[in-house]
Amino acid sequence: MKNQPENLNETEIPALHTIIRPCPFCGGDAELILRGNTFTKKRNAEIRCGNCNVEMVVGAIRNSLDWCAKTVIAKWNKRVGEHCI
Ligand SMILES: [Zn+2]
Repeated sequence: MKNQPENLNETEIPALHTIIRPCPFCGGDAELILRGNTFTKKRNAEIRCGNCNVEMVVGAIRNSLDWCAKTVIAKWNKRVGEHCI
């Protein structure tokens, strides 16, 4: 089991905000919210529409916050009829 140091600083995940698509329901701006805690090891990444408040959450204990963020963005950005990025 690897024991890598982990940086949960939100600013360490660059430019992710720019690739989040608008809300599929209302077209509103969606924002990425990261919650992480080095003590509990529990973390999740959430995308929420600032307009209609729909949200999508990916949580993990074993995976990094970075993984959560990438996963939730990939899921959020996926649209019917398109291939996953
Ligand atoms: Zn919306």
